[in-house]
Amino acid sequence: MTKKKATKKAITVREEIAQSRLEYLWNVSLSYGTTFPGISRYYVSIMWEMGKRLNYRLDSQTVKRYFCKKCCTIWIPGKTVQIRQTRHKKRKRVIYTCLYCEHCKRYKSCKPIKSS
Ligand SMILES: [Zn+2]
Repeated sequence: MTKKKATKKAITVREEIAQSRLEYLWNVSLSYGTTFPGISRYYVSIMWEMGKRLNYRLDSQTVKRYFCKKCCTIWIPGKTVQIRQTRHKKRKRVIYTCLYCEHCKRYKSCKPIKSS
């Protein structure tokens, strides 16, 4: 009984540490997004690999839709990503095209990402 509580507590502490590290990496990569895109890409790739290794779910609305999964470039509308809205069989789609690697990603929702 006490072992289960100890392991559960250890997992939560581990998750808190992982979350704080991922948030730090995301904030650093956002700050370098326009000035040093190579460094920003490096930090996003570290964040993405760390999240996969720890089996941590990144928040889709704030993090996952803001960078390219192929080249890890942070998406800045008009600079690093092209956003198009299309209709196919009465379904609205938003297509994000990365301008660095030309990788396309389609989303169902019609909510575009915010420009900062
Ligand atoms: Zn890309």
